[in-house]
Amino acid sequence: MSVLVIAEHDNKELKVATLKTIAAARKVGADVHVLVAGFQCATVAEAAAKATGVAKVLVADAEVYAHQLAENMGSLIASLAKAYEAVLAPATTAGKNYLPRAAALCDVSMVSDIVAVESADTFVRPIYAGNVLATVKSNDPIKFVTVRPTAFDADVSNTGSASIEAVAATADSGKSKFVNAEMAKYDRPELATARVVVSGGRALASAENFNAVLTPLADKLSAALGASRAAVDAGYAPNDYQVGQTGKVVAPEIYFAVGISGAIQHIAGMSASKVIVAINKDEEAPIFQVADYGIVGDLFTVVPELVKAL
Ligand code: FAD
Repeated sequence: MSVLVIAEHDNKELKVATLKTIAAARKVGADVHVLVAGFQCATVAEAAAKATGVAKVLVADAEVYAHQLAENMGSLIASLAKAYEAVLAPATTAGKNYLPRAAALCDVSMVSDIVAVESADTFVRPIYAGNVLATVKSNDPIKFVTVRPTAFDADVSNTGSASIEAVAATADSGKSKFVNAEMAKYDRPELATARVVVSGGRALASAENFNAVLTPLADKLSAALGASRAAVDAGYAPNDYQVGQTGKVVAPEIYFAVGISGAIQHIAGMSASKVIVAINKDEEAPIFQVADYGIVGDLFTVVPELVKAL
């Protein structure tokens, strides 16, 4: 069974989400190809060719894919999909944007945000904010699947030596155009892939407290900073810190939930963390139901003490 994986990249580097999607693809079928669609993206294609388990890399190198606009990506993927039984992309902002369009163009349905592969046509995906895991079977001739990267381990052994083949670009749809990207730059690790995440909630009570209390802890642990939606909505933390159902899904080795109650929408984004540490003054807070370690206390005392101890 042949499977096409759509690479996530920035025209220079292959993102680790691609390797995680390849890991899922290898459970779907043995013949895994990767599509790199971008502009001046030869280094990405070379990196994809080295990825373990990849048999062939298709490269669509054209200005029309420079920013991976969903309409152009959708038509390219749809034009290639007919040669495959399954097409997989990471369930990232980009993947969630273009893959449903490609599926619609091929007149098949999507299976989104899978966390496990049961067989070539059967997948597990969370529903109801992660409270239920649904096992879904697709009878479509081509399965279009987005893969939750945190649910699969990337094979970084780079033992592959896949062939690289150029594919023709499709015409610009003209339906959308790239205007500008304002990317936040942080010195910290990227939230979605960080080993340690320190997240703060409404209890921090101000942006000043958020930084003053959590930054020293995050610095000690080389951690990424995250936040609950309440903290983001109140302006204590930037929007791209949000963890949860409508934010980022993280699965670090250690997740600190500081002054976060543990609403299901927050837990949906962090429950796959290996170790969860909760600091909350309310011993009844639902976060303690998912925490491995819980400290009942005032965060304004507990966190500085923790930093001192570290
Ligand atoms: P609160 O629920 O107010 O909890 C604050 C906690 O801090 C309490 O448990 C309190 O005991 C504790 N506390 C107070 N003072 C102290 C102190 N001094 N020391 C220690 N502890 C203290 N939320 C998300 O986080 N992410 C999402 O993606 C998300 N998506 C949503 C999508 C939808 C459709 C909806 C309806 C909601 C969503 N929410 C999301 C919101 C979610 O339901 C909660 O409202 C939110 O997570 C609460 O944030 P919080 O825990 O910071 O605040």
